[in-house]
Amino acid sequence: MTKKEKITEILALLELHYGPTKCYLNHENPWQLLIATMLSAQCTDDRVNLVTKDLFQKYRSIQDFAQANLEELEQDIHSTGFYHNKAKNIIACCQKLLSEHNGEIPSDIDALTALPGVGRKTANVVRGNWYGIPSIVVDTHVKRVSNLLGLTKNSDPVKIEFDLMKITPKDKWISINTQMIAHGRKICIARRPKCAECFLFAYCNGGQKMQKTKK
Ligand code: SF4
Repeated sequence: MTKKEKITEILALLELHYGPTKCYLNHENPWQLLIATMLSAQCTDDRVNLVTKDLFQKYRSIQDFAQANLEELEQDIHSTGFYHNKAKNIIACCQKLLSEHNGEIPSDIDALTALPGVGRKTANVVRGNWYGIPSIVVDTHVKRVSNLLGLTKNSDPVKIEFDLMKITPKDKWISINTQMIAHGRKICIARRPKCAECFLFAYCNGGQKMQKTKK
């Protein structure tokens, strides 16, 4: 079976078990999605949603974030971790959005990744989930699950993104992320995967190796 055939069957099973999935970060517009994604680095989506519930009441526009007091914003986002860098980047990013993009969130990957604190992962979240542009987001779950399934041998998220783009049908580039996250949370849990209940076991090099070592 080729990798393309394998991923097609895996994606069909993920779709069957998890159905259509949507972005886990709460947002009402593209700038909220961008900021929520910046906050989600090394933090759970649940924690980010808890923080942004109040944050987006207090800061109601890109202008509000661009003019924010650094120390105050640090306190507001403190519980998401890495708050010094995140606050600094959010303010600089919003200032650049105003000075170079007229306060609009660009959809172009190069323009997005030129913003302070925005890497390919954050850019792809915005492109895929707001603009509907096929984009593969490689987060910790996609990284772990695609390695275990033998879809990539790389650990660098950008290399994984390009490996997955080569074998994944373009109309699945957005859903592969949310469905692999669902699988990573429910079954293929980091350090204690439930291989015995996993519907992907037959396709999974990593799971089969782990079962053999247990015997
Ligand atoms: S078989 Fe095990 S390691 Fe493989 S995807 Fe399923 S839970 Fe994860």
